[in-house]
Amino acid sequence: MRARDCKIVATMGPASDGPDRLAMLIQAGVDCFRLNFSHGVQADQAKRMAAIRAAEEKAGAPVGVIADLQGPKIRVGTFKNGEITLRFNEVVTLEASKEPGDETIIRLPHPELVHVLEEGDVLKLDDGKMQLTVIERHRTQVKARVDFGGVLKSQKGLNVPTRRIPISALTEKDRDDLAFALGIGVDYIALSFVQHPDDVREAKALIGDKAGVIAKIEKPSALEEIAQIVEVADAVMVARGDLGVELPPEMVPIAQRRIIRVARAAGRPVIVATHMLESMVDAPTPTRAEASDVATAVYQGADAVMLSAESAVGRHPQSAVAIMDRIIRAVEADEDYWLGLPRDMTPPQATTADAIALSARHIADTIGCAAIVAYTSTGSTAYRVARERPRCGVVGLTPIIATARRLTLAWGVRAVVAEDAHNVEDMVEKANTAVRALGVADLDDRVAVIAGIPFGRAGKTNTIRVFRVE
Ligand code: PEP
Repeated sequence: MRARDCKIVATMGPASDGPDRLAMLIQAGVDCFRLNFSHGVQADQAKRMAAIRAAEEKAGAPVGVIADLQGPKIRVGTFKNGEITLRFNEVVTLEASKEPGDETIIRLPHPELVHVLEEGDVLKLDDGKMQLTVIERHRTQVKARVDFGGVLKSQKGLNVPTRRIPISALTEKDRDDLAFALGIGVDYIALSFVQHPDDVREAKALIGDKAGVIAKIEKPSALEEIAQIVEVADAVMVARGDLGVELPPEMVPIAQRRIIRVARAAGRPVIVATHMLESMVDAPTPTRAEASDVATAVYQGADAVMLSAESAVGRHPQSAVAIMDRIIRAVEADEDYWLGLPRDMTPPQATTADAIALSARHIADTIGCAAIVAYTSTGSTAYRVARERPRCGVVGLTPIIATARRLTLAWGVRAVVAEDAHNVEDMVEKANTAVRALGVADLDDRVAVIAGIPFGRAGKTNTIRVFRVE
């Protein structure tokens, strides 16, 4: 069992397809895979899902799967000649229409967007490579001046950092992909371009308890309501790709730190994503800056770090995972990391579960426990213990495989599937077996177990027991 607390998420793609590659990625340290529904067809994702489950079975430990929905990514329409050239200071027209545009008119297939644009709004094109500022608005058109130009090809992305766009976080394609993803049994649904807590509520109403919901934070409007979004989501992602288009670059690290803090305070897993080891798409080793970027996320107490193109289409997916694993382990071996982690803690909530999670950490620190074992059916008790960032290992014991798979995103938690305990002796015996099997405790080590008695009822954590490993 790996002794690593920060988890690794790897995006699937042609570079990671196939049973051998998958097995090697899991061996190198992947805890959870991401299926990116912005690319490929559903049949490819179904194949990947089947291959992941087969590899999970061989590995003998739960592996999580995230279905990342494309979301309402706004794009410009097509152009008669496939592209146009935007020149500094010229004025262009943007018009709501599905017809192709030309050198003077950019057509937008999203009438909702044209209606909310106001003078002064900034429009970023093709991941921020070009920029326009709105100078006049009319009923179905706006005029904008080119701040910096370039060649704009058909259907390139369009970001409007200054506006909350009145569109749902789920497009028709997303709803179809969502139903499909739930059908193949993914563990998390990641929602792109969340702008408001209602976007998460809307998705949760469709998903129920079939999967957890990850809110991808990539819009300034989401940052304005970050605490409320985190509260209703099951996990969050610092989606730095689009966030870096919507915010000036100097604001991305500040947003990252803030999102991690809010998520940690709420006890929701937080994933730091995009460009972590980007140069490894081609190169066999990362840059120093990339190594430092991964390390920073780990020092900040992120639950997971994510690979995108590096593992999906890169030339060295396995090395990228192995290097991420080494960087995480190096940080977690640094005393400064453990001194820094509590700095961003906020007091526990006034619930029995949080009081017990905090007490378990105190007990573990006071008597030097080798592990805290949390009995959990929904995963909640394990998340509350992880929230305390205890120095010893955390084991989530659950009878539900879906819970074990979801816990692959939680900082420090090793999840084990085991039947519910029947009585206190049985609770200790099963915990003893789990910590021995995982190798997180040696004979005679002390372990703290937390559970709810009577056993088998969710949300009733009320007991701590300390035992010595036999
Ligand atoms: C991102 O924008 O950082 C991200 C993870 O989303 P996507 O890869 O879907 O653009």
